[in-house]
Amino acid sequence: MEDRLGDGDIDAITELVYPIIQRPIYRNIFRRPMSTEPILKLCNRAIRVRIYPNKEQAILINKTIGCCRFVYNRMLDDRKYHYDQVGKDVQITPANYKHDYPWLKEVDSLALSNAQLNLDKAFSNFFEGRAGFPKFKSKRRSKLSYTTNNVNNSVRIEGEFLRLPKLGMVRAKIHRKVLKDWHIKSVSVSLDAGNYYASILFEYESQVLDPVDPQKLLGLDFSMSDLYVDSDGNRPCNPHYYRQNEKRLKAEQRKLSRCKKGSNNYEKQLLKLQRLNQHIENQTRDYLNKLSRSLADHFDMIAVEDINLRAMSQCLKLGKSVRDNSFGMFRDMLKYKLEEQGKYFVVVDKFFPSSQLCSKCGRKNPAFKQMNVSKNLSVREWTCPFCGTHHDRDVNAAINIREEGRKLIPKIKAERQQELQKLRKQSAKSTDNNASTLA
Ligand SMILES: [Zn+2]
Repeated sequence: MEDRLGDGDIDAITELVYPIIQRPIYRNIFRRPMSTEPILKLCNRAIRVRIYPNKEQAILINKTIGCCRFVYNRMLDDRKYHYDQVGKDVQITPANYKHDYPWLKEVDSLALSNAQLNLDKAFSNFFEGRAGFPKFKSKRRSKLSYTTNNVNNSVRIEGEFLRLPKLGMVRAKIHRKVLKDWHIKSVSVSLDAGNYYASILFEYESQVLDPVDPQKLLGLDFSMSDLYVDSDGNRPCNPHYYRQNEKRLKAEQRKLSRCKKGSNNYEKQLLKLQRLNQHIENQTRDYLNKLSRSLADHFDMIAVEDINLRAMSQCLKLGKSVRDNSFGMFRDMLKYKLEEQGKYFVVVDKFFPSSQLCSKCGRKNPAFKQMNVSKNLSVREWTCPFCGTHHDRDVNAAINIREEGRKLIPKIKAERQQELQKLRKQSAKSTDNNASTLA
């Protein structure tokens, strides 16, 4: 009975305890990040480097790639059989095969697990209607690669070397700067045209930037001959690496077709052809990387049209030039290079009549509809029937795309600010939690 407290007692205790309870709460409030404090977000970046394995390492890499393909195909075969017999999918793991095929134990087991994950993904894509039934991997046609994960520092960069599970130190040309706080998540080892590469996937915390107020805007109109035409009237010199090398490619292809399939000479010629193809791809990629870097650093917003390149190359029979043009690759590069700086990459709706509008008075030229000239790429110049302005077809379209992009900025900016606020709240909550656990 004496233990029970009266009303007055509670008040006294509250007064006593209150400041003690209050203090950490106040402290939390002051610890809450200010709106100017950086908000961090996890980002990924892959860097592809050339590696130079010694003879033994090369043999083991080839073996691992072969084992992954074998396990993938066996699992696919068994799952397919089970599906045909029972009508249900079955879970199989690479471990199920290690007893019958003990040589599977020689290679990196994480590589085999990743082969299983790839197959699982292929199956779920099939079951959810995104793709056809998984196909068997072929030694000839499939990409020669395997992926492994970094577990307890099993993958790391040490000077001129890349450490890989089972392989040990492999000489590598690390041509890009890797920051100290970048953490390796996984690495894909591949064999392409006789050369070995490692694509290293990094994870790092990056500051989420406040959306910038775009000052310098640019619109790009896709162009077959020049890659693009911009709203300032510039056309980059598209070097057309594929076309430049077309004669050589054709000659090497012809030589290959004369070789007996599977013979030594065939293999040699095939490698030569693969090397040439790779060379063209490298040239193109290098050029596009430099071009997109200079644009992304100079402009705050770049607007492009949402065009379906595949459909375009099919319907207009422009296959080769679209492939050579590489506008799709260029768009992807522009996007991430702009967005990592808090800038804008805007895709304008594909039904926006960019080439039919007059960029001066904003009216639609009726001639385009009547003559279906918008599809006729041979019309290079036209005069507006309303205001009399003479237009270069591509530059006019690029200006329209830029202006349409300008209209979309407020919406994108609001979305980003909303996301930033959400992240800020989350971060404040986690600091509160940390503070209370500390208290
Ligand atoms: Zn006009």
